[in-house]
Amino acid sequence: MRQALIRLNKLLSRADKNAVLVLSFLLLILFIYLDHQTHFEIAISFFYLIPIALVTWYIGPKMGRILAILSITAWLSFNLLSGRTYSQEFIRYINVVVRLALFLGIVELLWEFKQALLHEHNQSRTDHLTGIPNSREFYDRAEMEIERARRNRTPLSLAYIDIDNFKQFNDSLGHSEGDKLLRSVASVVSKRIRKIDVFARIGGDEFVLLLPDTTQAGALSAMQKVEQAITEEVRTSSLPIMLSVGVATFASPPSSVDAMLQRADQLMYQSKQLGRNRISSAEYD
Ligand code: GH3
Ligand code: MG
Repeated sequence: MRQALIRLNKLLSRADKNAVLVLSFLLLILFIYLDHQTHFEIAISFFYLIPIALVTWYIGPKMGRILAILSITAWLSFNLLSGRTYSQEFIRYINVVVRLALFLGIVELLWEFKQALLHEHNQSRTDHLTGIPNSREFYDRAEMEIERARRNRTPLSLAYIDIDNFKQFNDSLGHSEGDKLLRSVASVVSKRIRKIDVFARIGGDEFVLLLPDTTQAGALSAMQKVEQAITEEVRTSSLPIMLSVGVATFASPPSSVDAMLQRADQLMYQSKQLGRNRISSAEYD
């Protein structure tokens, strides 16, 4: 059951919004028809909640409210047309108000629940200190980019970035100054990259920058821009930021995210060995 729901959710999340809207309207019309046919002996009107929930979840609360109002209007129309009588006429309208309040309440609850889930999901994929993606998010995005590079036959580059002598900085100026430096690196680099690039913090003072559809020359030019921005930041903030970087370019996609990380990490280590504050790069077939 859970698997079926997960599959359905995947399908509907990817589906065109207009398709979800049409499906919901068709369901609503079907339930209104059945409601009319059964002459209120079976309380089918509560099934209206299915299309209302669908549009609220996949399109938004505005459309959910519109469908709720439409369905209650339809319910009232058929209720009047059917000639059904109540001991007091106002009871009919109390029913309308109660149903509408219930439907609208469910729309709001469902939307709030979706927002809370989304927030939770984003939190679990964000590095709390810097606000950029964490390693979990990086692995997922990197897997997707490897797949895309394989399909489109495009190169893929990865920069592995480690801050130089960060331990010493932490020890002499304190952990909170160290945190400030990490946030500063995250913010400076984030501002200099393309929207499709993935910049993540994957460890204490270790960052990675994934550059889809980027050759070795392109990756080095991107890293030069980053270095310029860091130099500017050092000048204005007086934070002593120096980076050792390893840039690995894959002409054909690597076998896994770990294999890709390992190559770039080795190159970063080479930069450390050569005296730090530099970029080492290589291209792999
Ligand atoms: P190297 O130049 O060889 O990279 O030397 P390093 O001093 O930077 O050494 P390393 O990269 O191994 O040190 C990482 C340090 O990062 C160790 C740890 O104290 C510090 N660290 C890890 N996480 C955090 C954090 O969230 N905040 C702060 N302020 N420091 C952290
Ligand atoms: Mg370091």
